[in-house]
Amino acid sequence: MDSQKVKKRLFGTNGVRGIVGEDMTPELVLHIGLALGSMSSGTIAVGRDTRTSGEALANAIKAGVMATGCDAVDVGILPTPALQYLVRDEFDGGVMITASHNPPEWNGVKVIDADGTEMADEQVIVLEQRLFDRDFTGAAWDRVGKETAAPHLVERHVRAIVSAFPEGIGAGMTVVVDPGSGPAALTTPAILSQMGCRVLTINGQMDGTFPGRLPEPSVEGLAGLAELVVNTGAAFGVAHDGDADRAVFVDDTGQYVEENKEFALIESFACRGRNGIVVTPVSTSRIVEDVAERCECTVQYTPVGSIYVARCMMRLIGEGKNVLFGGEGNGGLIFPEHQFCRDGGMTVATMVHLLASKQSSLSAEIGDLPQYTMIKEKIHTRRAAEILDRIEDAYRDESIDRTDGLKVSRGDAWALVRASGTEPLVRIMVESKDKTAAETLYRDISRRIMDLTGSA
Ligand code: MG
Repeated sequence: MDSQKVKKRLFGTNGVRGIVGEDMTPELVLHIGLALGSMSSGTIAVGRDTRTSGEALANAIKAGVMATGCDAVDVGILPTPALQYLVRDEFDGGVMITASHNPPEWNGVKVIDADGTEMADEQVIVLEQRLFDRDFTGAAWDRVGKETAAPHLVERHVRAIVSAFPEGIGAGMTVVVDPGSGPAALTTPAILSQMGCRVLTINGQMDGTFPGRLPEPSVEGLAGLAELVVNTGAAFGVAHDGDADRAVFVDDTGQYVEENKEFALIESFACRGRNGIVVTPVSTSRIVEDVAERCECTVQYTPVGSIYVARCMMRLIGEGKNVLFGGEGNGGLIFPEHQFCRDGGMTVATMVHLLASKQSSLSAEIGDLPQYTMIKEKIHTRRAAEILDRIEDAYRDESIDRTDGLKVSRGDAWALVRASGTEPLVRIMVESKDKTAAETLYRDISRRIMDLTGSA
């Protein structure tokens, strides 16, 4: 079931998110807790990022699950992948209170299965149904769950990452870390210094008002990081989004590393000397195929969303296939030997290992990768489904893929048209090594969409 998306009513690809006090309230979160607890048993771990609303919403989740008879372990502030690691290790489920990269006024709920992956669509639909029907199973007075505080458990995630690499591999390397006032302030500097790196931080104090930069890492937001990298002669800078499942990089010259190139570079390292499969959504740059080909590996594409990547990786491994690496072209990378979710801490640790092994600079490594032109646009329309069908018709003589939205391939150029899950618009991505070919395909597709929307 990893190849098809199922329509959910409340939860999106990354849980439920909303603006605090408007659509994200303790009442909603309490009901999610009651619904989840009603379909679970045992102990649920609850964690949160640094948002100001996190404590109130975490208490609402805990109240819900305990009222149905589950126990709650409050693991405090930590990165989403740290919670996922702990859940897989010893809990029956988990809930992360986070809005990831959204602005400070947002918050959200992400439900984690006992295996450490995000809850599957089929289960989310059952949970949503319970929520809408108020179908909760309250526990009697002598069966109500209890709460334990365990903020120290995050250390286990740090140790798991550090122990996956040769001891002291980062010796002699300076790294600047920008956790963006998020939970990675607790983990990434610790991971790197335990690997032997010299670590400097910017925005290293946890603060839910995000005084230094927004939770979404951007070229503008990371200007301070880039400056510090250059001024200190660091090997690179790393920044995380608001819950640290993603890591993005600034190279030794202060240049922002485009995330598809980050994927390709780490992919080449993960695949070196091994034959296997790389898994990524249809929206990732074709650079991943260039790298896979060089390593005699193959690429398996999935719908857009890290959960589809993770579940596809698990399914292929279950079939006896050799899956080496996976993730998205946004800095969210999955290392199957570690765990089946995006992990920003593991990503930066792998970068240290890569540069130390190659005795190379990040700018030189990025410079060696193939160059692509990518065009991203959106067009407002309420007729996305019809547009996709009509475009499919128009391009029926070319190579078409409907894994997610509509992907048209023409030589080395491709275009992906997808309906937004949350807004009345379609997103268009076009890519080619040849700038003119990308522009021509983009003009062709956007003109067809405009013709359709214009006739509305
Ligand atoms: Mg995130």
